[in-house]
Amino acid sequence: MTSPTILVNGPVPAWLLDQLEKHFLHVYRLWQQPDRYEFLRECGEQIHGLVTTGGLGADRGLLESLPNLKVISSMGVGYDAVDVAYARQSGIIVANTPDVLNDTVADLAIALILDVMRGLTASDRYIRTGDWQAGKTLALGHDPKNKVCGIVGLGRIGKAIANRAKAFNMDIAYYGRHEQPEVDYPYYNDLISLANAVDCLVIVVPGGEKTKHMINTDVLNALGANGYLINIARGSVVDEQALVQALQHRVIAGAGLDVFEHEPNVPKELLGLDNVVLTSHIGSATQETRHAMAELTFENIAGFFNGVGVKTPVNE
Ligand code: NAP
Repeated sequence: MTSPTILVNGPVPAWLLDQLEKHFLHVYRLWQQPDRYEFLRECGEQIHGLVTTGGLGADRGLLESLPNLKVISSMGVGYDAVDVAYARQSGIIVANTPDVLNDTVADLAIALILDVMRGLTASDRYIRTGDWQAGKTLALGHDPKNKVCGIVGLGRIGKAIANRAKAFNMDIAYYGRHEQPEVDYPYYNDLISLANAVDCLVIVVPGGEKTKHMINTDVLNALGANGYLINIARGSVVDEQALVQALQHRVIAGAGLDVFEHEPNVPKELLGLDNVVLTSHIGSATQETRHAMAELTFENIAGFFNGVGVKTPVNE
């Protein structure tokens, strides 16, 4: 194959598009086609490489319309939106961008912990709405110090969160499918027991069917009225209606949420609650980290077609 043809699934950083267009003769922008389906019908057979993002992924319908696809390079560590099973059975290599975003996502998790426990955005609202001037009372916050931070999914990002939480004198415990012998933190092989034992539960597992609604009413009840939930993983991991109820009825103390079940839609009940902090899926959204992710996305697809191979394949 002398000149592979690349399809870009949706908007990606300008730097990445530029590199792709310099390196490959034919680069199509799917989101700019007047009729996506007509384009795929007419040009699908020409496509050898697909560049996508963690949010856009590559579903079965798209993959079926690209019969000569050899590689998918996704800009993001989470690949729950890519049909990896179909790709595997079709011999398509999938690559993602792990590690380069660990610190940035972990920073956001800590920011959400501090915000929901100390009431940063609540205090910001208190000023902006005139409540401070009006002499209203602002509720006292809580210290992270001496509290237990339970990490659900102690992987690359989970470990970066644990390191930061220790700097705030929090104790760490974790839940996952496997105990990690090289790790000193207490391991719980049962999520309810972890939720019972901690003050703050941070969710960092992958999305997808296996983790869907892993955080349900039972887990929230176990976390309890002094407990905080932080979700920087995927909205699908949390039963959002159960969480809304738990926040409304103070079953848990509060939540910090970067991800939602039906983005960009956020349950309207959450908008009026003062015990929840909301961010718009900005876990990796810094200039530096997005550039590092774009570089790795390019390295993966260029490496595949240069014969070097992808640097960071998804191995399921
Ligand atoms: P990772 O290194 O693969 O870690 C995932 C952890 O989850 C592992 O420790 C794994 O431990 C655990 N796990 C996996 N499946 C599980 C299951 N079914 N039940 C219980 N535990 C399970 O992944 P990472 O790089 O840290 O990234 C984690 C996730 O963060 C990504 O998949 C992505 O969805 C999300 N993320 C979000 C943002 C954002 O913008 N908010 C940014 C980056 C990443 P065991 O194998 O022992 O179970």
